[in-house]
Amino acid sequence: MHHHEGSTGERRFTLPAIGGNPSSTRQGTSPGSFALRWQSGGSRSFSSPDTPGMPQPSEKTAWNFLPPDWTKVPGSEGTKWLAPKGFVPVTQLEYARLGEITPQMRRVAEREPHLTPEMVRDEVAAGRMVIPANKIHLGYRLDAMCIGRASRTKVNANMGASPIASSSQEEVEKLRWAERWGADTVMDLSTGGDLDATREAILRDATVPIGTVPIYSMIIGRKIEELDAQTVLDALAHQARQGVDYFTIHAGVLREHLPFVKRRLIGIVSRGGSILAKWMLVHQRQNLMYELWDEICELMRRYDVTFSIGDGLRPGGLGDATDEAQLRELATLGELTERAWRHGVQVMVEGPGHVPFDQIEYNMKLERRLCHGAPFYVLGPLVTDVFPGYDHITSCIGATAAAYHGASMLCYVTPKEHLGLPKKEDVKQGCIAYKIAAHAADVALGIPGARDRDDELTKARAALNWEKHFELSFDPDLARAYHDEDLDVDTDFCAMCGHDWCSVRISKEIAEFASGKAEAYAWDRPKVTAELSPEQREVLEKRGVLAPEEIHRLASKTKQQMNARAGVKAACHSDYVDADKAKHLQEGREA
Ligand code: SF4
Repeated sequence: MHHHEGSTGERRFTLPAIGGNPSSTRQGTSPGSFALRWQSGGSRSFSSPDTPGMPQPSEKTAWNFLPPDWTKVPGSEGTKWLAPKGFVPVTQLEYARLGEITPQMRRVAEREPHLTPEMVRDEVAAGRMVIPANKIHLGYRLDAMCIGRASRTKVNANMGASPIASSSQEEVEKLRWAERWGADTVMDLSTGGDLDATREAILRDATVPIGTVPIYSMIIGRKIEELDAQTVLDALAHQARQGVDYFTIHAGVLREHLPFVKRRLIGIVSRGGSILAKWMLVHQRQNLMYELWDEICELMRRYDVTFSIGDGLRPGGLGDATDEAQLRELATLGELTERAWRHGVQVMVEGPGHVPFDQIEYNMKLERRLCHGAPFYVLGPLVTDVFPGYDHITSCIGATAAAYHGASMLCYVTPKEHLGLPKKEDVKQGCIAYKIAAHAADVALGIPGARDRDDELTKARAALNWEKHFELSFDPDLARAYHDEDLDVDTDFCAMCGHDWCSVRISKEIAEFASGKAEAYAWDRPKVTAELSPEQREVLEKRGVLAPEEIHRLASKTKQQMNARAGVKAACHSDYVDADKAKHLQEGREA
């Protein structure tokens, strides 16, 4: 930020002339958005300005990778592509290429009002957006959504029974829980229990797209080295028929990449990647997923299963980030993207992992180049390795940067990452951390309307309207419980600063002074808020181990002390009560 001092001493600030106002009412300031202006239909839709030295976007899109039998027809409204005679479109990508708008594209635009169905179609046709919607799953309860940088940042929650813990019923409950806390897609990564029944149960229940890593089911009851082409194709066909919306397939880990893994601190941390690496070493052959790629594409096309091309060589620690193994694999992922597009299959690409903060932009922009803008779906990334138990936080910092610099979907990390199978509460914590990351990026990128709810909450906060404040919160129960644990009454201040120190209340007074109507607000002498009562201190000590209900119960002691009855506003609100009463209230607490 530059500023000049004028002769009168006043300062003028010049802000960069880019960015848009993400508030749809155009209220408030816009300098928060230093992102580029939205380039609808371009490779830089909602994008951060490139730090010097960053890879430029690819000049190609999915339009450059049509099936070889399609023909170009020049027309007055630009070039059109003609499919061969008798061609029946199946995938969203194929419909988009033919210029058709599907009900799913319409639904996506309805869910994201800054997009029109035509924009959705054009982004899908360019390969920059996917609508993961298996034909079978659409017959159940799936509500179509999209993933792509022209749309809001999406969040994926992983779940799945491991051989040690969990059952299908528990997994369905976790699915509902993840949906409730805002997961946009869910991956069933079960490696134990009845895999087939769990997957089926999740698919029938889910309103969000479901992804899987099919190799997990392929090696159940069999040694890794026994994996063969028929097993792979059968398992994929089975899961496609069940209705899975996207498959993670680690076809990019090649034999020639493996020598680079030796230099790493932690080797291969992707389960699929490590299994396939072992298979290659045992058989002295190329990755069979890579060799079967065209057959896999054809099989997935039939049900419109979307690819989430796996990054089997993602770094598992900061020291391994952006290394030769990872980048070579990324180049292969670009090649696989092109081949899948030729088959009419929708593609997203998976990314790291553990990446120091300063390397995140490079990683995002390299993918944009090598994979021609195919949506990037990243896991975190964690920006430090020394906080096990808090990796929802270490990674949501990286995830915010990743989304700002180009990732379209963020795979959550829970506090249990690296340590154990996430339970319900961990799923919630992971979802919330990632909703924060996704939303923060959307605001920063200037997605129209992204900031509206923030502005509404700010207004409620300024008005000391607690009810509205809670209502607009992402987790109203928690916000209410935290408020009420110290002061379970509707006052024009809260327990954080107390009556006399409440800047928001004082600001309201200032506004009222300015309007010339509030002389009664003048104090004789400054007051200090009462000390905490023993009960309140007890509540604070227990904070963090108490459930919201328990906090409510303990907090009701405060309520009695404040002479307030349940559900009734305490008589201290400055909207209709003068300052003397507020002072009495406080003196009452001191007594
Ligand atoms: S007391 Fe402090 S934290 Fe609470 S409303 Fe007032 S300014 Fe905000």
